[in-house]
Amino acid sequence: MDETLSYSTSTRPREECGVFAVYGHEDAARVAFFGLFALQHRGQESAGIAVADGCQVLERKGMGLVSEVFREDTLPKLPGHLAIGHVRYSTTGSSVISNAQPFLVHHGNEYYALAHNGNLVNAHALRVELEDRGSIFQSTMDSEVVVHLLAAHLKNGLEEALVHALGRIEGAYSIVMLTRERVIAARDPRGFRPLALGQFNGGWVIASETCAFDLVGATYLRDVEPGEIIIIDDQGLHSIRPFPKLASSHCIFELIYFARPDSQVFGKNVYLCRKRLGHNLAKEYRPDVDLVMPFPDSGNYAALGYAEESGIPFEMGMIRNHYIGRTFIQPSQAMRNFGVRVKLNPVRPLLQGKKVLIVEDSIIRGTTSRNRVKHLRDIGVKELHMVVSCPPTTYPCPYGIDFSHSGELVAAQNEHIEEIAKFIGLDSLHYLSLNGMVEATGMEANNFCLSCYNGRYPISPPEDMGKFCFEKET
Ligand code: SF4
Repeated sequence: MDETLSYSTSTRPREECGVFAVYGHEDAARVAFFGLFALQHRGQESAGIAVADGCQVLERKGMGLVSEVFREDTLPKLPGHLAIGHVRYSTTGSSVISNAQPFLVHHGNEYYALAHNGNLVNAHALRVELEDRGSIFQSTMDSEVVVHLLAAHLKNGLEEALVHALGRIEGAYSIVMLTRERVIAARDPRGFRPLALGQFNGGWVIASETCAFDLVGATYLRDVEPGEIIIIDDQGLHSIRPFPKLASSHCIFELIYFARPDSQVFGKNVYLCRKRLGHNLAKEYRPDVDLVMPFPDSGNYAALGYAEESGIPFEMGMIRNHYIGRTFIQPSQAMRNFGVRVKLNPVRPLLQGKKVLIVEDSIIRGTTSRNRVKHLRDIGVKELHMVVSCPPTTYPCPYGIDFSHSGELVAAQNEHIEEIAKFIGLDSLHYLSLNGMVEATGMEANNFCLSCYNGRYPISPPEDMGKFCFEKET
């Protein structure tokens, strides 16, 4: 019997979430739809949009891709000139509709909708404290604590309540909020996750990445600064910086892997950054090979940079099938390699009998690389070497990436690079040095969070930072 099942073909790290906000467009829901479409790579589990027209707040959210949740006939049902949107990959709480965002509540004759990218490291302690005081939670997301903290201080006005709520939370947050008449954006004082501000025809947009501005015809103005709160209403844009300036902890993994290459992130162009990572890899390690190739798409730009610097021919040795949905008919046992092969297929005459250097952006669990390398061995590649455009990922991430336990990390489980090379099935393996990675960004190391490489956490992680930490107690 055929059974339609969710069937993941990859163990690559997942994006954490994407947020978008617009103020001052007559069809704000449609602008948000296109904005979320551009941010789809940051989360594919659920999508949602909340809109306001000055009087009412409406919301639609659902499980699936943006194009599955919103259709041509649903957008006209969301009238208004301000909107926020969210695409989610769950890093705290299960992938269920009650955890989809924006998170909308009604309190004191006002509506508050919130969308959050990042992970709060003290959410569990805050939730226990709030529940002890009588708060009733509707979800198992860390983001919901922000709404409860906000509601507790609204009698003093929204701005003061925001400062209170954001002053209590710790960790990574790039947040957009909406009320009947206002759009609000806030970024944590260390600026872990990106958040950019743009403008169009007198209106404002805010997005996790600038690629969302290009799609809606907005111009990038600047980043929302770490620790800044922006409030936009009919009086214009109003910015406050109520928190003391802290050392930046921008997530360097955004530049290496997460963000789209056509985005400006932390003021840097992601595409050019990734090419420079490839340049630096070629300066550090150059085995005797016939060609250099990426595992598309994420390794493409570092591979281009490697080929440019080394003079070794660049080839697209594996071709990606772009038309794979997230759901498959489960293959039979006899087709157990289906998951590996359906996404990337090798160009056999190009690779058979050759010495090949593969450029990867990162190795997290190692199983995806291993499966792909085995596939290349099976078709007769003579030698397989790999370079990786970041150092070994040895420590878990508590700030919103889905490797929250060191047991998941192949570099944490194997002390020596040779052991990882053996696990993956490679003739040789080289990781970019920490200096080589940071140098490629054009920024100083002290601007970045490098915790997953060096174990130095700018904010102490909680003891249990698992994705389901709010669900174990129930
Ligand atoms: S630990 Fe790694 S993935 Fe997490 S925020 Fe820091 S650099 Fe990014």
